[in-house]
Amino acid sequence: MIVDASDLHISARPGQFFNVLCGEDNFPLLRRPFSIYRINKDSNTLEFLYLVKGIGTQRLAGIKAGETVDIFGPLGTGFTLRENEGTILMLARGVGIATLAALAQEAAEQGIRSVAILSARTRNDLLAAEALQGFGAKVYKVTDEDGTSGVEQVRQLIEQIMIEDEISAAYTCGSQRLSMLLQEIAAEQDIFAEIALEENMGCAMGVCFACVCDIQEADGSTRTVRVCKEGPVFSLEQVVLA
Ligand SMILES: Cc1cc2nc3c(=O)[nH]c(=O)nc-3n(C[C@H](O)[C@H](O)[C@H](O)COP(=O)(O)OP(=O)(O)OC[C@H]3O[C@@H](n4cnc5c(N)ncnc54)[C@H](O)[C@@H]3O)c2cc1C
Repeated sequence: MIVDASDLHISARPGQFFNVLCGEDNFPLLRRPFSIYRINKDSNTLEFLYLVKGIGTQRLAGIKAGETVDIFGPLGTGFTLRENEGTILMLARGVGIATLAALAQEAAEQGIRSVAILSARTRNDLLAAEALQGFGAKVYKVTDEDGTSGVEQVRQLIEQIMIEDEISAAYTCGSQRLSMLLQEIAAEQDIFAEIALEENMGCAMGVCFACVCDIQEADGSTRTVRVCKEGPVFSLEQVVLA
């Protein structure tokens, strides 16, 4: 979905999201959060990439070109792209790539190279590969269909990429098991890493506490935080995934 954002006067960051009213007549009542997929400064448009799943996305898909959509944002915290970064790795499963594509776009604008591993159930479900390649990213595709998406296979692939491309930071979204894998590798190799979490949200403004997760502090204690407000992007090292 491409939205004309020329009246919004906002500066959105990769990793942030908008809460979108998906239907009229207050049905469904709750807005659905969608990550920013692309930020087009030249044309003043924002793009969202969504998978039609339930009632919200079904109704969203029914909105026709030229109609107005009620979006609220940008919300939450974005990814950290550090200055003078070498090459970044992005690991995404399914539509989780939506939020990482915006990061690849920003990285390209800053002259930072990116490598992406896209995982999906079938080859047909692999999303955004061309968009990422358009940002100069090297793209690896793994699927359940091809038997290449298992945790051990992805581990080997990440380890190979870490060496070949001298990865200095990694980012992930869309899969608990792949995020746990990256968390392990990032700790082993002492690499800066962040995760964008997707939790069901109520208000998405920090009021209702429907979307909490746990963060591990340096002293070993855990703290419960709101994904919509303190996140959705967190330090991968700190977030409790199990
Ligand atoms: C930060 C963030 C970013 C996201 N970005 C994207 C994206 O870029 N692209 C994308 O496709 N999806 C994204 N999602 C997921 C998206 O928000 C929707 O959950 C998904 O598209 C399915 O929505 P649906 O309305 O079609 O499905 P539904 O099944 O109707 O609802 C979606 C979810 O909301 C829950 N829900 C419905 N009603 C209630 C209720 N009353 N109370 C509590 N929970 C309820 C359901 O259990 C379901 O899991 C993101 C989610 C988050 C949190």
